[in-house]
Amino acid sequence: MPTRFAGPLVLLRELRETMAATLGAQARLDRIVDLIAQNMQADVCSFYVLRDDGALELFATHGLKSEAVHTTSLRSGEGLVGLIAAGAQPLNLANAPAHPAFAHRPETGEDPYTSFLGVPVLRAGQTLGVLVVQARDRGAFQNDETEALLTVATLLAEMISTAEFDNLVSTGSDIDLRRARTFEGAGFAEGVALGTVVLHDPRVVVTNFVAEDIGAEKTRLDEAIRTLRLSIDTMFSTRDIKAGSEHHEILESYRMFANDRGWVRRLDEAVDQGLTAEAAVERVQNDTRARMLRQADPYIRGLHDLDDLANRLLRVLTGDPGVFQARELGEDTVLVARNLGPAELLEYDRDRLRAIVIEEGGPTSHVAIVARSLGLVAVGQAQNITAMCESGDDIIVDGSSGRVHLRPPPGVQATYIEKMRISARRQEHFAAQRDASAVTKDGVEITLLHNSGLLADLPALKETGAAGVGLFRTELQFMIASRLPRMKEQTELYAQALDTVGDKPITFRLLDIGGDKVVPFLRSTAEENPAMGWRSLRLAFDRLALMRTQVRALLQASGGRPLSILVPMITEVSEFAQARVIIQKEVAWLKKIGGTAPQSISIGAMIEVPSILFELDRLMPLADFVSIGSNDLVQFLTAADRANPRVSKRYDAIGLPRLRAMHLVVSAARAHDVPLTMCGELAGRPIEALALMAIGIDRLSMAASSIGPVKELIVAARLAPIRERVLKALKDTEDPTGMRELLISLAQAQNLPL
Ligand code: PEP
Ligand code: MG
Repeated sequence: MPTRFAGPLVLLRELRETMAATLGAQARLDRIVDLIAQNMQADVCSFYVLRDDGALELFATHGLKSEAVHTTSLRSGEGLVGLIAAGAQPLNLANAPAHPAFAHRPETGEDPYTSFLGVPVLRAGQTLGVLVVQARDRGAFQNDETEALLTVATLLAEMISTAEFDNLVSTGSDIDLRRARTFEGAGFAEGVALGTVVLHDPRVVVTNFVAEDIGAEKTRLDEAIRTLRLSIDTMFSTRDIKAGSEHHEILESYRMFANDRGWVRRLDEAVDQGLTAEAAVERVQNDTRARMLRQADPYIRGLHDLDDLANRLLRVLTGDPGVFQARELGEDTVLVARNLGPAELLEYDRDRLRAIVIEEGGPTSHVAIVARSLGLVAVGQAQNITAMCESGDDIIVDGSSGRVHLRPPPGVQATYIEKMRISARRQEHFAAQRDASAVTKDGVEITLLHNSGLLADLPALKETGAAGVGLFRTELQFMIASRLPRMKEQTELYAQALDTVGDKPITFRLLDIGGDKVVPFLRSTAEENPAMGWRSLRLAFDRLALMRTQVRALLQASGGRPLSILVPMITEVSEFAQARVIIQKEVAWLKKIGGTAPQSISIGAMIEVPSILFELDRLMPLADFVSIGSNDLVQFLTAADRANPRVSKRYDAIGLPRLRAMHLVVSAARAHDVPLTMCGELAGRPIEALALMAIGIDRLSMAASSIGPVKELIVAARLAPIRERVLKALKDTEDPTGMRELLISLAQAQNLPL
């Protein structure tokens, strides 16, 4: 049968005029469905919009009964329209009533139409609605008609995203696009925040959809693709990227997609349909996203790479730099990102940030640690949230449960406002406990300390009443800076830190750069396994000037006060001995030039690489104190990347083998009378803190926000029976009880606040 289709170009031209005309929202939609029906010589054209209750409401029709508009709706999955919405795939049928999913709707009067073509209306791969044309007995529609309808659907998707269309939906409902959504992520930093979304890497907004001159659009597209390919090649050549590294893989996949003939052909075809080059990118990306998201095991990484690539191409086309100006933040900002490095987070104005939500990451990843040290609420592993939200959306972040409520309904808001009131009261209660000692009911005194790394988080010491700073992560200063901090700047920071803590002790950890703690100006070649790569002390020994400068800065800052230095990532005792020698040499040099040496200097070793567990007898006599870094120790003991959400929570950090490893350190420290602190994130979580106290660790260093809850637990506990039972379980080869279950039951028996 010859096609009667006038072609997409005429249709798009007419649609452009309709979009530009001054019409109300409903009149515009009515006009659009009329135009489509006329252009495709169809008897019916209907537009259904997905509502927040999952139903598909008829929003406009040409050919069906007009009374059905805004009164007829189909449940999700119901009828052919429901099928298209659920599958996000077009459906083209010669005999629609014969299809098993066909649902008869007498109120619409659609009986006599057998030819049916429906396409999903998509945005970021999510179904917003369905567009249908029907005709009396003319067989299936042509392929070019399907393409044309998909092109029009791209346009409709943008249209209904504008606020103008909000009021059309039948009373009591909302369109699905603005539906409240809940994400079940993982809590990275406790607390509740209510605020407004700012997307870290905002999507490029396409405003110009219909091409005026197809030839010109093709040229724009070709040039943009060429620029994109060149920019990827430049990234390969200007950065020293090692083959096989993750960075290399990403760039390879960019290159593969950018040169993929199928992708380029689809973009070309979309322009042929009458779309502008940028609308073509949006349309093709939408289809690809929809397809990938609906696979049984979506290949999220590939999806992210393709999203990035499409966004890059859109930026080339629109000239949108896409870089958010951190200074523009409004009050109560919640930063939403696919992933975020700790240094990127530090670029934002901390006074306006309340929370961060990311799609990836693990609870002990450094961005989570930095978020905690900034006092932010943080949730990770909130899958696909960046595609679902827009800057400006209302959002609630619950860092305790890991739940994120996007566009929360008033009821949920009210609940959270109440929750925040209760939590404020709890905070007041903790503040009132500030001066109480952290002593258990049976008289065991626990020293509570802060983890810190910024001057901004030091004043909290007064509010929590903690005994001092157990871990000051000096690398944070390097991560915020745009160039290597000079010795003078380092000295100033350390001196100010010492001034702020006053009489309380503070332990400075030597630079722990590397892994996910990227310092741009100290970029090394990309590594395949950065957590196990050239980081921390290894880097320091190879860049001795850097290490010496830092030690000098610390010595000068002390100005005759006591100084405590912690050496990270010790793998073998000889490394600790070497670090000590370097520090002592600097002390000798300072004395020689007549400088003021610290009143006393204690040098501690971090226990975070499993190898050192088997050399503790040699390490202890050399160390003035030791500190367990459970974040790395557990990561390496379990061979599970702390920043990889697929594995980071797979093994319980207080599972038997890990607790046994930590207990080895307790025994060795006792035998040599060396003070022991735990400064990993475990110390700040109540059940975990209880486990640590049970195995004999009595110095716990944690984020300031954890001091209150942990102290509350301590003062309520009788430790002796818990210790006895846990130590027995550690030795008992027969005991089948899991350590966590055991600790929970022991805590419950004493009614401890967890
Ligand atoms: C640790 O590894 O537990 C630790 C305290 O150091 P960081 O988290 O900075 O690696
Ligand atoms: Mg560490």
